[in-house]
This record gives sequence, structure tokens and C-alpha cells, in this order.
Amino acid sequence: MRFGTLDGRFVALRDGLAVDTGLDPLSALARLDSLGASLPPFPYEESSLGAPVPHPRQVFAVALNYRPHAAEAGYRPPADPLIFTKFPSCITGPFAEVTLPPGRPDWEIEVVAVIGAGGFAIPRSQAWDAVAGLTVGQDLSERELQTRGTPPQFSLAKSFPGFGPTGPVLVTPDEFPDRDDIAFTCHLGDELVQHGRTSEMIFPIPELVARISAVCPLLPGDLIFTGTPAGVGNRRTPPRYLRPGEVLTSRVEGIGEIRQTFR
Ligand code: ZN
Repeated sequence: MRFGTLDGRFVALRDGLAVDTGLDPLSALARLDSLGASLPPFPYEESSLGAPVPHPRQVFAVALNYRPHAAEAGYRPPADPLIFTKFPSCITGPFAEVTLPPGRPDWEIEVVAVIGAGGFAIPRSQAWDAVAGLTVGQDLSERELQTRGTPPQFSLAKSFPGFGPTGPVLVTPDEFPDRDDIAFTCHLGDELVQHGRTSEMIFPIPELVARISAVCPLLPGDLIFTGTPAGVGNRRTPPRYLRPGEVLTSRVEGIGEIRQTFR
């Protein structure tokens, strides 16, 4: 199934129509299996969709989860998942205009896992059951603040307003031909800057859910940004950063695309 958020209401989407679940996203995600659908469907515009979870309580993100990106960043593949947060105030919808802060703003396409009922110490074998669905995300990052100190700090530099665009819809894992192997691309203007498949992750989604929930109880609507492949701007020769007026398009097979313009 496909879900979205319109005016803060969680809606089921089918054939260009939306059905209001009567719930806010966090309440709906806690009981996705038992949502009623007695209300009449209504037409909607894709451009009206907000972030599938506009106000998540926890946002986890994973650094260096693809070998070529770890290599371009100058690191060996990590032995354990490197987890940081994007503070929830950075989360925004799929088609937001983002104000660029001074510095070196950069892109990172990511597949984002959205937690359903959640739980503590979820075994890897049950981890997909804890995932309500997948959505498209950008882990926008300001590299100067990120790399100014030693060691670098990720969370703050990745949490400016608008630095966590997500959407346009949440797709349940059963909708994918192979939920562990999903292709994605990122274009800056017309140029393909990143592409990958989720099967290339060092720590796949079930492993991330197990490792994170071993420490932090996962709550309905929590987001996991699962890492980016090679091709980010600060590792290009010469480096390339986001500029006002540019358009960044991130597309995930089976979900759709999000699009940011910058000012
Ligand atoms: Zn990232």
C-alpha cells in the first residue's frame, strides 16, 4: 500500500485518490495493519503531499553504509554501523524550497525506512515487520561545519531547516518485487550525480533496525536514513556544491521522486 500526508492527516493513496485514515501520521503508523477506510476517497495533487512523517520523534542516520562512498570519503568500511541524528526540526516535505546556509551545502540521496509499531531489541529476523514502509530522502549536509573540527560532527551540520526532505509517499515493504534490492538515482539539474541499489548497503535495513533498537526503543514514525552511495559533491574533482536556483531530484524505484529547489 501507499500512504501520504495531506494537511497533517495520514491518507491511503490509490489510483490518484486519497482516503483519510482519520488519524495523524504517528497514530496511524502505530496501527497500520488495522486502519479503517470507511471515508469516501477524494482527488489530490501530488504537490500537496507533505513529509510522510512531518514530526518524527527520533531520526537516525547512517554514515558510510556503501563501500564506494566510504572509499571516496577516505575511510575503510566500518565494522559497526555509524549512527548519528538529523534533528527532527530539519524534516520537511518532498517539494520544499530550501534556503542554503553559507558554507558548502551538499547532497546525499538516501532510502528512508519509516518505523511502524516499533519496539525494543527487535531481532534481525523480525526487523522488516517493524518497518511500516520506505520513502525517499535527502540527507542534505553543510560540509564546512561538518568537517571544521576533529573529529567531524555530523548531526548539527545535517540539520539546518529543510535539510531533511522526505516523501512523496510511504510504500509498504510488500509492494516491492525485492524489498532488499531497490534502485535509486539522484540528479542535479540534468546531471546524474548518484545512483545505487539498496542491496549494496554494508548494513542492510534489518541489520540497522536490530542494531539501533538494541539501544534505543524505536517509536512509531521514527525515521532511519540508511546511508548514501558514492557521488556526493565534496568528493568530486573539483568539488561541487549546491547553488541557488539549482534543482535536485532524488528518485527511488517503486516510490517516486522528491525535488528541491534552492535559494
Ligand atoms: Zn547521509
